[in-house]
Parts: sequence; structure tokens; C-alpha cells
Amino acid sequence: MRPHHDKSILKTFEELGVAPSILKAIREMGYEVPMPVQEEVIPLLLGNDNDVIALAQTGTGKTAAYGLPVLQKINQLQTYPQALILCPTRELCLQIAGDLNDYSKYIDGLKVLPVYGGSSIESQIKALKKGVHVVVATPGRLVDLMRRKRVALGEIKNVILDEADEMLTMGFSDSINAILAEVPPSRNMLLFSATMPQEISRITKKYMRNPQEIVIGRKNEGNENIRHVYYMVHAKDKYLALKRLVDFYPNVYGIVFCRTRRETQEIADKLIHDGYNADALHGELSQIQRDYVMQKFRIRNLQLLVATDVAARGLDVDDLTHVFHYSLPDETELYTHRSGRTGRAGKTGISIAICHSKEKGKIRSIEKVISKTFEIGALPTGKAICEKQLFNFVDQIEKVKVNEEEIESLMPSVFRKLEWLEKEDIIKRLISLEFNRMIDYYRDANEIEVVDESTHRSENRKDRNSRRSYNAEEGYTRLSLNFGKADGLFPNQLIELVNKSVPGKVQIGKIELRDNSAFFEVEKGAAEKVISRMNKYEFDNRAVYVALAEDSGGSEWNNRKNNYSSSPAKEFGKYRKNNNKPWRKHSSDGYNKQRKRRP
Ligand code: AMP
Repeated sequence: MRPHHDKSILKTFEELGVAPSILKAIREMGYEVPMPVQEEVIPLLLGNDNDVIALAQTGTGKTAAYGLPVLQKINQLQTYPQALILCPTRELCLQIAGDLNDYSKYIDGLKVLPVYGGSSIESQIKALKKGVHVVVATPGRLVDLMRRKRVALGEIKNVILDEADEMLTMGFSDSINAILAEVPPSRNMLLFSATMPQEISRITKKYMRNPQEIVIGRKNEGNENIRHVYYMVHAKDKYLALKRLVDFYPNVYGIVFCRTRRETQEIADKLIHDGYNADALHGELSQIQRDYVMQKFRIRNLQLLVATDVAARGLDVDDLTHVFHYSLPDETELYTHRSGRTGRAGKTGISIAICHSKEKGKIRSIEKVISKTFEIGALPTGKAICEKQLFNFVDQIEKVKVNEEEIESLMPSVFRKLEWLEKEDIIKRLISLEFNRMIDYYRDANEIEVVDESTHRSENRKDRNSRRSYNAEEGYTRLSLNFGKADGLFPNQLIELVNKSVPGKVQIGKIELRDNSAFFEVEKGAAEKVISRMNKYEFDNRAVYVALAEDSGGSEWNNRKNNYSSSPAKEFGKYRKNNNKPWRKHSSDGYNKQRKRRP
């Protein structure tokens, strides 16, 4: 492939052949000079019989690269589709259609139609009937329209496959083949992809003629605005490490990338449970839920979005302060895709990988791809976090907007009440009010151990030695359950499950979650009832199996505090609201209401 290299003389949009009506619109949008991908692609698509394979990611300016020439080649007097853009998700579909509408603002009568699943096909058919020039489609819905003979592809001059790798990952291979078989052979075809898996080569071989191949410098390459840092911790400490980092950056606005839907939901749930302003975005949520979460994040009502790679693709937010890799992706190139969401437009950003020792190899592979070396991060100490939060709080005091009118009438009595205190005393009390709990927490919290091979081995030994047999507390019976952490089970969910399946109030004692199983105590008299009732239930489409626990010979109690203790910094409000309810008692403290999946 031909790598893009800096040209000494940069071309203007006029020199690339962009028409005045489009120039006017993009100038208004602030596009002064073409981005590299635009410089390469625009002239090719303005020509005829040019096929292009471009390795370029979101954020490189690829939408305008194909959008401008595609729009320019439309003949508005002919009211049938002349350009087809395929993309993987509804969000991206709407985003592309929106961008094309912006670019074609000064082209009279040009119609762009997004067609995607999950919305009324009838209204899309109606719009197609009226006549459209550019169809932006997700493959499944387009095939549906083709089968109903509601869309004609016989006059298509340009076909764009945007995020082709993602479309294949999502299983659209057959649909893409069906669509491409319908478009005329004499057209330009452009395929954009962030990665180049084998299946893409099969498509390009089948449908493209002598394609030009271009690689647009991966957006992080040479992007001096992004710092890449990794923290190496024990797998069990990953969540704690994430919390510390988030606490250390009080004004964080970032995405926490996870690999699976389950992990995404689990981490989001833990963060929400611990009082952070976080939510989950993944494919298991309904479209309405996804839209809601994305909108909250866009308008910054949400600080942390925990997301899978696929779900985050449709999100057009790229001015993040941080990108967290809770799990590193299998495909190295996805790393650049993720981290490129920060450090945009001259701003600085930090891409943080939280790894365990087995992931060291991945870090090295990524370094090769981004041509940069990761910094090895040292997790902030409790003291450093307290200081950081403190100064952030003080900063907020300085900057807060005082609504003089509203508080005017109240102030005399407030002043009277506090007049016996010196200014310094008032400040100290204000600070203490906010910080006592956090300082207490970090005084007691263990520092998280940074891993190297030797400590890893000794830790395993320590774990084994610290195991002890476990008996139920006085008055309680210990039961086992065939679900564990790996199934996405949390203590609150277990409590919810007990309360849902067993009528009446049941006292629940200690809960011990293991990877694939759990142990929990119930008041002695209720054990039989709990077993018989719960065994009629399902969780996550699997039958629940509860039994009297045999002595398991091991306990994870030592980890409990670490795994589920709340973050002090974010917890104050919640503690006040919830009156410090322990999580293992039956509770309806709002946590359950926030959950998306229910047993
Ligand atoms: P994309 O890769 O198409 O998602 O584009 C990334 C961002 O760059 C979008 O916000 C575009 O509006 C913006 N953009 C695209 N081309 C240009 C340009 N030539 N000058 C300035 N901004 C651009």
C-alpha cells in the first residue's frame, strides 16, 4: 500500500476540483485546507472508473473525502439514486447523512436519504418514491428495500463502503455481496476501513478493478497531543486502578473501552454503584437506551461512558480528555481507533491502558503500530488523589457563580450564625465537610500493587496461603449458587434475585462472589424456602441452581473491600442520600433502577 506522505505544496479544495457551491458550504463549516485523505480521494472520485481502498479511520476527514465528490457528481434533475453509501450502524448512517446535507446546503433540490433498520420502512419507502439522489444505508435495511423492489440501484455512479471492517464484523457480508451484485459495473467504488481483515480482500478482489490503495497516516502517528500510558496491575485490581485514575482526574470526560458487552455492563454497573457519573453503551441495550446514553454523553451530562468498540463507533464525540482501555483490544489497530478520540483539534489527551502482566505483549505490538513508546504509569497514591480533589474543589469555590439575588435574603442569618468563626476556620470546615470521608478512606485503603513478574508469583502464593475455610455466621445458613462474577452477577443483583423469587422478607448475610459461582447466607429458617423458590428461577436465560453449600475451603472475603468498596471522592453525595446502607442487605436504593438488564 502507498503510505500518505506530506507534500511540500498543499493543494486547496479548488485545486482538487471542488465546485463553488460546495466550497461555500464547507468554508462556512471552517474547512480551510483539505485533510490528507481528502487530498488523495477527492480527485479520484471526481473522475470515472476509479476504485479506491483506503485505510483510514474516523477523525481523518474521510466523510468529506468521499462526500464532496459524490455530491458534486449528482445530477439533481434525475430523481433516482446516483450514489450509495453503506455503513454499519444507524448512528453513523445519520451522521453521514447529516454531514452530506451540510455540504450540499447550496445545491438546490439535492436529496440525501438515510435508510437504516429499527425505524419505519414505510416512511423510507415514501421518501424513496418522491426521489432521492444519495442513499446512505445500513446493509440489512437496504437489502430489505431491494427485496421489496423499492429502491433502484441501476444508476449508481459511486459506491462507498464506510467502515467496511465493522460491517463485516457485524455479519453484513452476505448483504454487502447482494448489494454490490446489483450496482452497475461501471462506477467508482471506494472502500474505507480501519483494518484490513481477509474478508475485505475477498470483497475487493470480487468487485474492484485495479483499485488504488492508500494509507492515511494513522491519526495517532505523530500526534504529539496524545500521551500513551499503561498501568500494570493484578487482574483483580483493574477496577480499583480505574477508580483511582478517575478520582485523580476530577474533570475527566472520557470513554472506558471494554471488550465484551458483559464486561462493559459490569464495569458501568460498578462505577454507577460506586457513585460515579457513568453509564454503559453496548449492543445489548435497546436503540432507545443507546440514543439516550449517547445524548447524555454528548451534552456532557455523563462524565464516563463505558463502551464496546462497536457501540462507540456511532458516537461523534471526539474531544475527550481521556480514553481508558479497561481491556486492550485483540486487533492492535483498534487501539489507534480508540485513542484517536482524544487529543483532537490541538487539545491534549491521555490514552490509558490498564493491563495485567499477560498483556505486556500487546503493549509492545501497539507501540510498533503507533511508533511511540508508552509511559509506564505509577498509580496515584491516596494522598495525591486527596490533594488533587481538594484543589479541584477549591477551584470550584473560586469559580462558582454566586446568585446574589436568590441568596440575598438568607445571607444575614447565615452570617450571624457563623460570625464567631474566623475566615480560616470557615474555610477549614468547608474543606473538612467535603473531605473527611475521602481522607478516612484513603488512610485505610491499601495501595494497589504494581505488577512485575516476581511480585505476581509471590502474590499468588500469598493468595493461596491466606485462604481459609469458611462457615456461616451464627443464625445463618450458607447456600451456593451456579452464577458468579463472570456471569455478570453483582451482590445487589443476587439480593434482587432472592427478593424477586422468594416471597416475604428474607435476611441475607454475607455474599461471596467467585468467578463462576457464588455463596450467600440466608437466615436459618428461610434456607429451604429460598432453595425451592430460587430453583424455579432463571437468570440471564439460564436456570438458577441453589443448594446448601458444602464447606468450600476458600474465601474471597479478603478481597471484598477492594472489590466493592466505594470511591470516596464520588461517594459523599450518595452516602448522604443512602444513609450508608450496606450492599448486602436488601435495598431499593436506586441501584437496581439504574440497571439495564434484569434477571
Ligand atoms: P470524519 O473523519 O469524517 O469523521 O471527520 C472528522 C472531523 O474533521 C469532523 O468533525 C469534520 O467536520 C472535520 N473535518 C473534515 N475535513 C476537514 C477539513 N478539511 N478541515 C477542517 N475540519 C475538517
